[in-house]
Amino acid sequence: MITWVQTEGIAVVTIDSPPVNAGSHAVRQGLLQAFTEIAATPDIEGVVLIGAGKTFIAGSDIKEFGAPLSEPQLPTVIAAIEALPIPVAAAIHGAALGGGYELTLGCDLRVADRKAVVGLPEVSLGMFPGAGGTQRLPRLTGVAKAIEVICDARRVPAGEALKIGMIDAISDGDLLQDTIVALRKLGRKRRLGEEPVPAFDVAQVKDVAKKAVAKAKGRPAAVQAADLVLMASDKAFGEALAIERAAFQEIRVSPEAFAIRHLFFAERKASKIDTVADTKLTLERLAVIGAGTMGAGIAYALLNAGFAVSVVEQGQDALAAGKARLDGLLSMDLERKRLTPERADQLRGRLAFADDLTAVASADLVIEAVFEDMAVKKQLLARLGAIVKPDAIVATNTSYLDVDELAQVLPRADRFLGLHFFSPAHIMKLLEVVRGKATSPATLAIGLALAKRLGKQAVVAGNAHGFIGNRIYNAYRRHSEFLIQDGATPEAVDRALTAFGMAMGPFAVTDLSGLDIAYRMRKATAATRDPKARYVDIADRLCEAGRVGRKSGAGYYQYVDGKQASDPVVSDIITASRAEAGIAPRSIDDDEIRARCLGAIVNEAALLLAEGVAQRASDIDVTLVHGYGFPRWTGGPLWWAAHLPQGELADALEKTAKAEGATFRAGDVTAALKQLEP
Ligand code: NAD
Repeated sequence: MITWVQTEGIAVVTIDSPPVNAGSHAVRQGLLQAFTEIAATPDIEGVVLIGAGKTFIAGSDIKEFGAPLSEPQLPTVIAAIEALPIPVAAAIHGAALGGGYELTLGCDLRVADRKAVVGLPEVSLGMFPGAGGTQRLPRLTGVAKAIEVICDARRVPAGEALKIGMIDAISDGDLLQDTIVALRKLGRKRRLGEEPVPAFDVAQVKDVAKKAVAKAKGRPAAVQAADLVLMASDKAFGEALAIERAAFQEIRVSPEAFAIRHLFFAERKASKIDTVADTKLTLERLAVIGAGTMGAGIAYALLNAGFAVSVVEQGQDALAAGKARLDGLLSMDLERKRLTPERADQLRGRLAFADDLTAVASADLVIEAVFEDMAVKKQLLARLGAIVKPDAIVATNTSYLDVDELAQVLPRADRFLGLHFFSPAHIMKLLEVVRGKATSPATLAIGLALAKRLGKQAVVAGNAHGFIGNRIYNAYRRHSEFLIQDGATPEAVDRALTAFGMAMGPFAVTDLSGLDIAYRMRKATAATRDPKARYVDIADRLCEAGRVGRKSGAGYYQYVDGKQASDPVVSDIITASRAEAGIAPRSIDDDEIRARCLGAIVNEAALLLAEGVAQRASDIDVTLVHGYGFPRWTGGPLWWAAHLPQGELADALEKTAKAEGATFRAGDVTAALKQLEP
């Protein structure tokens, strides 16, 4: 695992622990052993530390953080490097992140391959660097930069890292040789703990810290990280190291750190399915049908991932509108400098438009994103079936329609699946990969591999109305409507849920996405609705008053110059709805709002888990965090529910059940939560 050889007075220590040389206990032990041996070997002038395989140490072994850490811990290894009388250089390729980068900060010199990245992203795991990172980094970059890099959990590319001092040199050739040359040139120890912290303007740094913490949503890990970095300037190095370590030992076992680690592992599991092996993606030509909101975003995501994409619309006018939409996406990224003009030309070069379906005849995969209408989609798929190659994969971006019913019109139902993107499709991380009854494992594997190539978080869902995410979200939204009919205001509900950490409140979300489509759907299905089920007609009343959301200038709120504000008209509508339903409004506090809305999420999750719509409880946490703005630091709704104080969950579920009334279906929440690994 750790080996070292001596050549011409230089000891080269190699870390070889596939796949990513994670800084596990065995790696730390091996390193300590190597440094102890080197210390006892005569005639060595310097040491180079390098990773075998594709990377340096890409991070720590995250599994270790939940339990007592076994010796030697990382600070002990770093102390051994600093105690050596000869200089030690880190030769970095791939990634040196977290504990991996902290190890290099214990060295006297850092040389990185031009494509390498370095950083201290512990804050994104609910922790902060605990092996001297908060004390050594500011000595290289200055306090302000160190706060920014650590609180923002940034992976800094070598070019920038050199500029801000995180590394000392870049190698464009043989990394090991270049590092040896640089090491000989240094020819002495350069312990960062003995270097001064560059002088800084306190007011300016406080301002940087405030912004960095705000960007990290004020989470405790970021707050403490900023304080620790600031401490580097006024405490003796040794004392500051001890304070950092003690704080780290506490935060790594904090509830938030456990919750985020749960998600970290849940995300990796979600894109795998036990019965399906990973596959190598061989798709080249892709096609998207329909270039509306979703189709344009999907096509853009595919282009960005390197595919050639044909976009098909119906008729010249719709085609022109689709072209304009894609142009809009390109222009926005050009404006925001997320895209260079050269790259934009490349993307345009791989993009083709047609108003004739035969343009997809040579496509390896076709994604349809036409109107959400069973008849329209069936007609399109039937035509497609006759045009595409026999082994082409056909996917639907439907939000709610029955994937198995759609599959029936295709000659190869086994090559059909749902790829449910979220809006805006080129930005939102979540991709529900929907498995129909006939979808073959090979087709599913391609869907999952495509998600990976697009940089999306895949979650496998079964065919159910709304799949995983929309089905749960609908339960949540319905309960938020019960709340306003019972006495809360839309403002109070939104405020209570954003205070909990939701990215937006449910009513602000509804206004943003529009009330009209759901309204039409409710009208179309009114005859089949259970007459005993509680039905809140406030959204209908809003639509009938022409308030279909932001796009009409008003919904649950009014929008004056794009700014959201309360609207007395909405209170009147709510009052009328309550009166007609015979409900005497009562005051509802934030705790009850949170309990009922989140109780609805947890109950619906338990129901669909039992039905097999989601394959694991942790997949539900991933779905809600990546697609619906559920706060990451809670670990997702099920992890959150599993860690509520005794009695609180039962109380929340009881309140949720009561709000819904006789038709409430209780899920087996206990069984669902049991599935979560501790
Ligand atoms: P949209 O109305 O913006 O776009 C649909 C496009 O399809 C239109 O441009 C239309 O001209 C085109 N079209 C219709 N029939 C066609 C045909 N036969 N051939 C070629 N083009 C055709 O709708 P959207 O919001 O982009 O939704 C598309 C699909 O994506 C729907 O199934 C919807 O449920 C789903 N979806 C939407 C969202 C969302 O937030 N809007 C999110 C996830 C999934």
